[in-house]
Amino acid sequence: MSYFGFPFPEETQSFSSHAQVLDYLCSYADEHDLHPLISLGCSVESVRLASLPSVGDSSHTFGSVDGSLSSSEDSSLGEGAVTGTDTAAAAGRHGGGIDQGQSKAEVESTTLGRWEVVYRRRSAPAAAAVADDDDQVVAEVFDAVCVCSGHFDETYTPTVAGLDEFQGTVMHAREYDIPGVEAFVGKRVLCVGARSSGTDIAREISSVAHAVHVCDRSNPVNSKGGERGNVWWRTALEKFEGANGVRFKNGELLEVDTVVWCTGYNYAFPFLEGSGLLTAPASKRVHPVFEHLFHVYHPSLSFVGLPQRV
Ligand SMILES: Cc1cc2nc3c(=O)[nH]c(=O)nc-3n(C[C@H](O)[C@H](O)[C@H](O)COP(=O)(O)OP(=O)(O)OC[C@H]3O[C@@H](n4cnc5c(N)ncnc54)[C@H](O)[C@@H]3O)c2cc1C
Repeated sequence: MSYFGFPFPEETQSFSSHAQVLDYLCSYADEHDLHPLISLGCSVESVRLASLPSVGDSSHTFGSVDGSLSSSEDSSLGEGAVTGTDTAAAAGRHGGGIDQGQSKAEVESTTLGRWEVVYRRRSAPAAAAVADDDDQVVAEVFDAVCVCSGHFDETYTPTVAGLDEFQGTVMHAREYDIPGVEAFVGKRVLCVGARSSGTDIAREISSVAHAVHVCDRSNPVNSKGGERGNVWWRTALEKFEGANGVRFKNGELLEVDTVVWCTGYNYAFPFLEGSGLLTAPASKRVHPVFEHLFHVYHPSLSFVGLPQRV
């Protein structure tokens, strides 16, 4: 994967390190003089529709912070809308969401709105997770927003009967880290899920674990593998039983010490919460998004990398 016409240096291996990827991105930015256009170390807190230009109407309509449109002056978007062209005024108003009172036709007639983005410019390094009093909070209006915030952060774990009784260790693949492999020495481990995380973790910990069981709905029959012959592929997990028991769909019962949920992640866009832009809580699906890329009613809001599964 690379930018068109800008290949990685020839010596780069196909599994390149994060440092090599960073070098590559920086050299692209150098080459095209992009640094002045990029603000690093910023954390986006909210994205709201700031203005809604209608088809055939060059003026903009602004919303308010609670998603309703404010007091009436003139409106192409229903009672209560305010029109104008001053985006600074929109920014000052903290932007708005979709007017819940708009008809479907009115919503569909709107296009390419602008976006008020509230973000925190970190005073500490970008990696600092907590907000600092010295951070600068900025509200700025943008013509378009591209959401590239990833979706491997908020973990998903299924509800399985009997988990409350289980006395072993329970963790999610997100908590797994290479030095952590020692935690699996001599253990009987169940990895729930046989996609990338489940198979990668099983392969790695099988070098030290007593046995690794990988269960998944898509595993039709039991089979054995792994370099040490201690990896078992099993059918779907049915329930937990007692202190250490795990029962599979085919009725089999095993005892394990550790369960690793390799069950993936939820979509989460905290900065869009309450905006009314995504219908149904963004968990396993994002709606309404055309081709997993563009917001159906507001295509100046786009999403990158939604279809990826791990
Ligand atoms: C265990 C695992 C193994 C994988 N292995 C591979 C592999 O071998 N090969 C492969 O090609 N892919 C692999 N992937 C997938 C790959 O990591 C993703 O496809 C890739 O990271 C997606 O890139 P992204 O830029 O869309 O999102 P991310 O890499 O998740 O980046 C999102 C960025 O947005 C930032 N962000 C989030 N919220 C905000 C906010 N409010 N304000 C500001 N910034 C914010 C985050 O800090 C982060 O830096 C793997 C993923 C996982 C979880």
